[in-house]
Amino acid sequence: MRQIALPPQPVRFIGAGPGALCHLTLGAADALRQAEVVIHDRLVGPEILALIPQGTEVIDMGKEGFGPSAPQAAINATLVAKALTGRRVVRLKGGDCGIFGRLDEEMEALEAHHLPFEIIPGLTAAAVAAAAIGQSLTRRGRNRSLRILTGHDMAGFADQDWRGLSAPGAVAAIYMGKKSARFLQGRLMMHGALPGTPVTVVENVSRPDERIIGTVLAALPGALDGVDGPAVLLYGLAPRHAAASLEQLPPDPQQEAHA
Ligand code: SAH
Repeated sequence: MRQIALPPQPVRFIGAGPGALCHLTLGAADALRQAEVVIHDRLVGPEILALIPQGTEVIDMGKEGFGPSAPQAAINATLVAKALTGRRVVRLKGGDCGIFGRLDEEMEALEAHHLPFEIIPGLTAAAVAAAAIGQSLTRRGRNRSLRILTGHDMAGFADQDWRGLSAPGAVAAIYMGKKSARFLQGRLMMHGALPGTPVTVVENVSRPDERIIGTVLAALPGALDGVDGPAVLLYGLAPRHAAASLEQLPPDPQQEAHA
């Protein structure tokens, strides 16, 4: 009997958004409904997982910063093995799959086996967090750039452009920043960031237990006490109502000197 090899289905990398169904794109929802195998990580919300059709094989590959985690090699191997079965495989990641999602490592694993894939982007946690606090991530006259950074990387606490971040008006969305908060605070203040620089912690973005904590750089580590869920730190941004009251304060002489 002659066997005709069917072309493999492209693996779909899907960004699930930070939690709620309303933050999932229509394209992602469609792809999810067609999935025969779903490999997801820890940050995908239950509302999203509920869309997965009955009978679909669901593999939880939760990874946790510093904590117990599936090694990346095991995730890559699972992805390749499932794709080789010819079924429709979805790799589901929280937020956007291209932001701190190890997407490249997984694409390269597929490429090494000549397996096709496509990417369906999602809303990243910072975008939804900024909306929750009523702020824009960029603003004319305040910040010409937005930094997306991680508190820690493979080498430990991540090094950053501290001078740039310490300049007045700088805005950064800090992912995985809870454990490194004291380090971030120290480096930023050492480089001249004002102690009163606003920082907003948004925990469990887009989930029923979402929490917004407005603080300032000088008080950041303490403000994170009791923050157990995933959190984005919006550095340089205060919750909108607090921003209004800060603007009523007399100008800070140190800030004037920087200007
Ligand atoms: N790809 C994801 C980021 C994964 S890295 C994205 O684009 O959003 C993991 C970090 O993302 C967490 O430590 C936290 O800083 C942030 N994060 C992801 N989902 C979150 C959520 N629902 N609420 C708050 N922070 C979240």
